[in-house]
Amino acid sequence: MGEISPPSPQRFEPMHHFTYHDGILHAEDVSLPRLADEVGTPFYCYATATLERHYQVFTAALAGLPAHIHYAVKANANMAVVRTLADLGAGADVVSEGELRLALAAGISPKRIVFSGVGKTAAEITLALDHDILQLNVESEPELEAISRIAVASGRVARVALRVNPDIDASTHHKITTGRKENKFGIAWTQAPAVFRYAAGLPCIEVVGLATHIGSQITDLHPFRDAFRRVRSLVFQLRTENFPIRRIDLGGGLGVPYDNDAALPPQPAAYAAVIRETLGDCGCEILLEPGRLIVANAGMLVTRVLYVKEGASRTFVIVDAAMNDLVRPTLYDAFHAILPVVAPPPHTAPRVVDVVGPVCETGDTFATQRPLPPVRAGALLALASAGAYGAVMASSYNLRPLVPEVIVKGGRFAVVRRRPSYAEMLALESLPPWLTPP
Ligand SMILES: *Cc1c(COP(=O)(O)O)cnc(C)c1O
Repeated sequence: MGEISPPSPQRFEPMHHFTYHDGILHAEDVSLPRLADEVGTPFYCYATATLERHYQVFTAALAGLPAHIHYAVKANANMAVVRTLADLGAGADVVSEGELRLALAAGISPKRIVFSGVGKTAAEITLALDHDILQLNVESEPELEAISRIAVASGRVARVALRVNPDIDASTHHKITTGRKENKFGIAWTQAPAVFRYAAGLPCIEVVGLATHIGSQITDLHPFRDAFRRVRSLVFQLRTENFPIRRIDLGGGLGVPYDNDAALPPQPAAYAAVIRETLGDCGCEILLEPGRLIVANAGMLVTRVLYVKEGASRTFVIVDAAMNDLVRPTLYDAFHAILPVVAPPPHTAPRVVDVVGPVCETGDTFATQRPLPPVRAGALLALASAGAYGAVMASSYNLRPLVPEVIVKGGRFAVVRRRPSYAEMLALESLPPWLTPP
């Protein structure tokens, strides 16, 4: 490992809009130390320019296709993020009542909302039908029956797409592959025609199409091509049986670069070329549900170094963020680049350290044996590519408050989710009547 310069600007610009100005890391035109002073650490910071750019690059790649983007809210459910994308024309893919309510509150038209997920409750189905959303993506016959029952009772017709499982190995982390036959998702593609016939016989169900989603952080186009070909053959097979498939939902899953040293995932244009090649001529409206691709590199988690501990065989940089704030390294062995917020002087030799949080679990480790410029207590570090599956997966483990979220636009910033107070956290609790209050 050589010298450390402000890390790999060619990879972090211009897609990221997190850049060094005079040696200080900025989100667009706002310096991260300034935000840390205003908000306290740790905090998530999102760059509007990156959200916009990623959305526009993806949209441009799809030009000429009858395609609609339904941002997968689960990747980052911050209302300001969703609203920013809504303003650019995005619809939403939601997976819970909470996400449906948030998408509506963020101003996304119900006509642009798809509801996915393998375990929708009666309350969720009812709410979706009450709002007459675009479609529910259905994953099983029992779910079809439930939707039919609720639609009949409320006097509505439910538009559904059947999510098929194409039995494709997406070659991604086993916890985020979803398109293999042993996964819980979708209807086995071999059973799809039978389930279409079954659905056609159910009252108040209108089958509008097919859906699929094979996994997340997919860095190779082959699994997409294989899955989309399978979808294509199913579309034509179903048409011969007089099921007029007019809409296909291809899910999300395109990966993003986390590690500067790793191979770059395919560009949106190459992904779009696979869609054109496999499904461009099938006469269907195409829905896409990108999540990570839009938001991952638009966010950073900013944390402060509490202590530098010289262990027996390693140096530990102990920071004030922890696995409860960003669980990806613990859950998926995920790599996040870690940037010093104040760039080191040129020609500074790196030190190899472990970057860890304060939680009492060995898994509370953000980086193992990572070369970083020397840091001292009080220094700020930024964990990059934390905009997707970051804040949304946070918990208050160790009774640590959820960290605030800040969004930047040019030289402006706003706290768009504030840190709860301890009083608010404790107010959710109560003692049972058989315990005397202290
Ligand atoms: C998770 C998910 C997405 C988004 O996946 P990304 O990898 O973030 O693009 C889209 N659709 C469905 C059904 C999902 O479960």
